[in-house]
Amino acid sequence: MRQCIKSLTPYSTARDEYKGEVGVFLDANESPFDNGYNRYPDPHQHCLKQMLVLKKGIPEENIFIGNGSDEAIDLIFRVFCEPRIDNVISIAPSYGMYRVAAAINDVEMREVQLGENFTLPVDMMLECADDATKVMFICSPNNPTGNAFPHREILRLADRFNGIVVVDEAYIDFSDMPSLTNEISQHPNIVVLQTLSKAWGMAGLRLGIALADAQIIDIMSKVKYPYNINVATTRIAGQLLLNDVTDHVEEIKAQRAEVARKLSAVKTVRHIYPSDANFLLVRFDNPDEVYDYLISKGIIVRNRSRVRGCDGCLRITIGTIEENMKLIEALKEYER
Ligand SMILES: *Cc1c(COP(=O)(O)O)cnc(C)c1O
Repeated sequence: MRQCIKSLTPYSTARDEYKGEVGVFLDANESPFDNGYNRYPDPHQHCLKQMLVLKKGIPEENIFIGNGSDEAIDLIFRVFCEPRIDNVISIAPSYGMYRVAAAINDVEMREVQLGENFTLPVDMMLECADDATKVMFICSPNNPTGNAFPHREILRLADRFNGIVVVDEAYIDFSDMPSLTNEISQHPNIVVLQTLSKAWGMAGLRLGIALADAQIIDIMSKVKYPYNINVATTRIAGQLLLNDVTDHVEEIKAQRAEVARKLSAVKTVRHIYPSDANFLLVRFDNPDEVYDYLISKGIIVRNRSRVRGCDGCLRITIGTIEENMKLIEALKEYER
């Protein structure tokens, strides 16, 4: 942890100093006129966290809620990395936000390319580390490659590395592999990131989750803005978390197999990578042309063809059955 964080006196909110729920509240300089939003939100998000406790079977003291995973990623830099002195390691190709957050925090980012067929380069990551390496980022299932890494490999890295191992599980709901959260008690340097933006369908609300040892959660909670999750978001997320998204997740997984099957019959498709996520990474003979063609048909995919390790690839999110059919129809028409 950075020295300035170790010695931090966190902001103490009015709600921290008086915890009762009924009374005449004249302590926070709020407006007394009730319009549904005149009071500050709970800085600890107790209600939302209790819903996550029930869903994930993880104690509240191990849960951090942020304004998207982006907030958790940024906080990890601010808590653990001394700007211009410390460094972090990430696999590559992977999610672009790690590199952006590193740059904003003026922290060196070292990237280690994935192995053949996108395997986790555990030994190379360990070799790449020095005394100033504080954090390693592993995205599993990985964006944009789509594959999840075996737990045994991630745990081998966590056990050998004297620092924080962030495992970004944004896509875990679409994987047949379980979450690594059950390993946190045995491997207290692992921080698991999850999000309500993907399987839960709440990308617009901005809610990210970090699951980790209580000491790590405690310090992240002290460094975050006191009221990082607003009242409106809290209420809507509380309602949406009552929904069961299993059917949607199952439909996406079935459609992922179906789209892969149909893509394999398209001539310009050279390779379809196996996916544990809600997208497919697909290599094309002429990716730029296919990308532009799809746009002309009103279908927008992500062009990853110039990303090292993803040469020639487009990343295609699995949509509704109708949307996926449009994609396949368009590609068949392209062939003619
Ligand atoms: C989409 C995604 C997230 C989610 O980010 P939010 O800020 O929670 O919306 C996190 N990590 C990865 C790798 C992603 O692809």
